[in-house]
Amino acid sequence: MNQMTDIPVPTHTPLDDESCWEAVLRRDRTADGRFVGAVLTTGIYCKPSCAARHPLRENMIFLPDPAAAREAGFRACLRCRPDEVGRDRLAVEAAQAFIAAAQTPPSLDEVAAHAGYAPHHFHRLFKRETGLTPAAFARSLRAERLKAALEEEGGSVTSAIYEAGYNAPSRAYADAQRHLGMTPSAWKDGGSGVTISYMVRETSLGPVLVAATAKGLCRISFDEDEEALRRRFPNAQIVPGDAAFSTLAAQVVKLIEDPTQPVDVPIDMCGTVFQQAVWAALRAIPPGETRSYREIAAAIGRPGAVRAAGTACGDNVLAVVIPCHRVLRSDGTLGGYAYGLERKQALLEREARISESSAGP
Ligand SMILES: [Zn+2]
Repeated sequence: MNQMTDIPVPTHTPLDDESCWEAVLRRDRTADGRFVGAVLTTGIYCKPSCAARHPLRENMIFLPDPAAAREAGFRACLRCRPDEVGRDRLAVEAAQAFIAAAQTPPSLDEVAAHAGYAPHHFHRLFKRETGLTPAAFARSLRAERLKAALEEEGGSVTSAIYEAGYNAPSRAYADAQRHLGMTPSAWKDGGSGVTISYMVRETSLGPVLVAATAKGLCRISFDEDEEALRRRFPNAQIVPGDAAFSTLAAQVVKLIEDPTQPVDVPIDMCGTVFQQAVWAALRAIPPGETRSYREIAAAIGRPGAVRAAGTACGDNVLAVVIPCHRVLRSDGTLGGYAYGLERKQALLEREARISESSAGP
């Protein structure tokens, strides 16, 4: 038997009008991507699960996809965005974020398993949606990041490789210290079984808390003290940093005073796949430049997830090292910052000034 026929794939048999209408009434998410419902009275088409009020049955017709609806003169619903959120499209977007967040490119089997599809099928689907295979997408992503990092003024090749997600310097580090750092479960569990060292240092922007496990930095924040750290990691053993730790803390202070100089500091933190993808995108913003939340969402292959990207920026646990202060609203206004808009403004002005002066007369 042909091996391909053994692979379970989602069935896409066409639905009759009655089944379509029932799916619309149920707001059936599993029907999204299988058809769109177009409303004759408003000229708008929706995905089956749209939360908008249902029209009368006689005013809705069913079309196989958004393209057919547009051809028939309908416009996409702004609420459910039927063009963006086909089921397959969502799976491909999730896979792109998964690949973007991975330290090393995941295998096809891993990507497909993450998306919940059989590998062969998902390979075709991914290529149809993006024009690239998952492996080619991963390669181009890393190449783009490396290119961007190498173009950054004053950066060394080593730090460029690091920023591109190749992790050549830090991989050796991670291998050596794998058992010392925080596992995702320890992270979730308030740092149980982990020792965290900390120091509070004065900077020109106020006191900064620097905390790290044996593997790397796990918290950088302004205006926080040991007590705040204990609240965040209630199950960790929290100890004052020693002389070796003060070297790491000094690097963090140096970065705050001059954020244009890349600092190769080890990091020990966990987040969801989505958060990690956003944080990686933040680290790719060169000092002196800003991005909008929309651009961050697009950079991780999730153009529809602008709000979620904003939330992930706010969830950043390493102030300045992960430069969430470089993200603004699309209209150029500051947006939010966990440590106060004045500080965000001050960091941005500092970076703009320093990048201007380093450009020379
Ligand atoms: Zn809709």
